[in-house]
Amino acid sequence: MAAPGDPRKLPYLLIGVGSLMLGLFAGWTPIASRIDNYYYDWLLMLNKPSEAAHDAYLVEIDDQTLIDYKGSRQLRRTMAKALEVLAGAGPKAVAIDLILADEDDAGGDELLAAAMAKVPNLVLSSDIMRNSDRWEEPYAPFAKVAKAIGHVHADLDQYDGVSRQVQLEKVAERKRRWAMALEAYRLAMGGEQIVESQRDLDVAGKRLPFPRRGERGRPMLIRYRWAPLPRLSLKTLIERPEEAARLKGKVVFLGVTSLSQARDRWVTPYSTSMGMPGVEIHAHIYETLAQRDFLFAASNISIVLAAAVLAMAPAVVFAYLGGWHAYAVAAIQILWAHSLPHVVFSNGIVFPILAPAACAWLSVIGCGSWQYFVVRKQLRRSEADRSRYQQAIHFVSHEMKSPLTAIQGSSELISRYNMTEEKRKQMAQMINSESKRLAKMIQTFLDVERLEEGQMELKKEPFAASDTVIVCAERARPLAERKKIGLEVKGLAEAEVLGDRELMEYAVYNLLSNAVKYSPSGTEVAVESRYDAGQLRIAVSDQGIGMDEKELKQVGQRFYRTKRAEQSGEAGTGIGLSIVGQIVEHHGGRLEIASTPGKGSCFTIVLPAKGN
Ligand code: ADP
Repeated sequence: MAAPGDPRKLPYLLIGVGSLMLGLFAGWTPIASRIDNYYYDWLLMLNKPSEAAHDAYLVEIDDQTLIDYKGSRQLRRTMAKALEVLAGAGPKAVAIDLILADEDDAGGDELLAAAMAKVPNLVLSSDIMRNSDRWEEPYAPFAKVAKAIGHVHADLDQYDGVSRQVQLEKVAERKRRWAMALEAYRLAMGGEQIVESQRDLDVAGKRLPFPRRGERGRPMLIRYRWAPLPRLSLKTLIERPEEAARLKGKVVFLGVTSLSQARDRWVTPYSTSMGMPGVEIHAHIYETLAQRDFLFAASNISIVLAAAVLAMAPAVVFAYLGGWHAYAVAAIQILWAHSLPHVVFSNGIVFPILAPAACAWLSVIGCGSWQYFVVRKQLRRSEADRSRYQQAIHFVSHEMKSPLTAIQGSSELISRYNMTEEKRKQMAQMINSESKRLAKMIQTFLDVERLEEGQMELKKEPFAASDTVIVCAERARPLAERKKIGLEVKGLAEAEVLGDRELMEYAVYNLLSNAVKYSPSGTEVAVESRYDAGQLRIAVSDQGIGMDEKELKQVGQRFYRTKRAEQSGEAGTGIGLSIVGQIVEHHGGRLEIASTPGKGSCFTIVLPAKGN
């Protein structure tokens, strides 16, 4: 586990920041918008609006009306008839979602204008013409009798074409128009005008908290009702005027819903494949305003902040916690990232899902993998280092035992028994030489350790190869004699090696003592050095237990001992050869081993050298 201020925390921090940037980038791509939209629609499904009594009422020009009243050619006359009935019913306001822009050849304009004049709080519609920046206005006689003209522009999502919001205001030809439903709302509320500021609108003392967002206008999310809005067809209105009583005190939205005239149908988050007629959407916009059932898109700053928290939290968790604790907390964070849009939605805030979830997932996966693969690996390595260190300690204590036993025995002998001066001198010398050997051994071991860790530069002094061979042979001779093994120095090359004499002595002596150790009595051990073309070969051969192919492959690895060696009763540590290998390698050479089980082995140190 990382401690505070530990540089090992930095990777987590970097992964956190990287996840944040990647997550935010992903969150702003078109595919992310689609996913966010899809998620939004799903949240709308989960959080259906309360079914309060509706104020809006649809009067539909449906298929049956168009069939029975000779289609759209007679439409103005038909509408005039219906409006006469409607006016008598006393609605609060009437919004007509038909752009009656031109004079009608079939006549009926006067009739219609007269009927319109009787309707209270009439709102007519206009829209910006396609491919031009001009309003398509209602025919002047109609416009004259209308209380307001509102825009009926459908604001469809640029990626999936679904109608989720409305622009409360639209500007063209420097003329600003409020949304038709907003105008109907104002008139129904008895408002004289809409008071606007950058931050909100005021309609008859009611604040509508929709700020103007520069280029993006003044968007409002439409809170569609789940249950269908109440409706009446134009035909019913004309044929059974008594039904008009239902429209008393309502805000009526009149428009075409006929499927055969389906130009004005849009997909909504709740709609079926048929889509919803524009007039009905306007009624839903009105309901959103009237019931103040507002949803607000979360600001970019809050999204970035939430994403930052979600990306950085796993980084902190993994930097400070280890093991399953970290994974458990990370899982909770992912859960939290996913539930965030749900929680805020119930407070009327629409939050995207992709950016925060992507940040959380990326960060958790990144930091988790980092901890699992990298930090765990480091941990395993440091554990291996520790056990290696313990084994090294074991080796040192084991190797130090024999000189210590000699020193201890000799000193005891001197103090306990009377002996001749000569014998005493011999003992004292023995103590002296053994303690020197001990000191040298410790030094060698420390040197090799430091060499291995790269803390020490190899000594670079020239020394004669023949000296090394002779010194080592002499040192090993008593061991050989004790086992009744012959030790022969066969050839002595005259060559100069550049390096560390003591370490090289350690290496050669180690090979000789192994040869003696792993050979039975009565056999021969030979050491031979040869020089040829810049290469010195010091070969130590024996007639001992040998090794098979498999053992040969592993010998020289730290702590490896052959079964054969153990059975021969020699309990080694399996570290000597690995040190030899390192010493030779540090001198730019290599160790060659040839061996046959039961026949003997030959260890050859091959070194770069200079011939004399
Ligand atoms: P140790 O002798 O303390 O076990 P070494 O690293 O010197 O450690 O040797 C490693 C292993 O290699 C020995 O345990 C032994 O099995 C094998 N070995 C080394 N030298 C010889 C040899 N001359 N003949 C046969 N086996 C050998």
